[in-house]
Amino acid sequence: MLNELISELKTRGVNFVKVVDISMLSVKENKGYSVAILIGIILSPSYIFRLSKENIVDYFEFSKKEHDVNELSEWTADFIKAKGYKAYAQSERNLINGFYDVNTKTTTLPHKKIAMLAGLGWIGKSNLLVTEEYGSALCMCSVLTNAPLPTQNKPIIMPKCGGCTVCKDICPAKVIHGSTWEIGMNRDLIVDVYHCETCLKCLTNCLWTQKYMKISSD
Ligand code: SF4
Ligand code: SF4
Repeated sequence: MLNELISELKTRGVNFVKVVDISMLSVKENKGYSVAILIGIILSPSYIFRLSKENIVDYFEFSKKEHDVNELSEWTADFIKAKGYKAYAQSERNLINGFYDVNTKTTTLPHKKIAMLAGLGWIGKSNLLVTEEYGSALCMCSVLTNAPLPTQNKPIIMPKCGGCTVCKDICPAKVIHGSTWEIGMNRDLIVDVYHCETCLKCLTNCLWTQKYMKISSD
């Protein structure tokens, strides 16, 4: 079933699919499901270039890919349900009606946490997931299920930001504190999400995103 699902998702524009065991998490986090499927769509190098190097404000590609990955999470849940298993898409539409706390701007099981269980990347000083391959140029969503899919958990990757402070320095709202993430760390010690302007500068200017942009443009 997993190969069929991945094949279908790739024909629909998904760049990567990761499947992890979440049975060890609290019921509050895993909602009673044992497996999480993370699906991701990569932002293009040309889009990153326009935003970071030409300083153009343009949400089109980001919004479209966020929308697509959310829709595809719901499509994935329907695909799994049609096979006879339970599934819950953690799409924005579903979370807002259940597991998103508008006051604290938190969900019980962020896509980022699933990405970390998959060893995809680390939490940067920007509070974004940062990967070696794409930096933070990712749109992600996830699906929780009890389908008996093969899982592949990896060790948690600690931050590879080193002495970099690019995201902190470039943030126009000055909401990035420059703290290095540790396991169990309160998000508010890293970033003041309540005053973030969602300008994407931390995402597009991250050293690792820039590295992805340059390598992919060569
Ligand atoms: S999106 Fe913009 S305002 Fe928000 S943290 Fe990143 S750089 Fe700062
Ligand atoms: S810009 Fe630098 S400090 Fe910020 S997340 Fe990227 S590597 Fe880490």
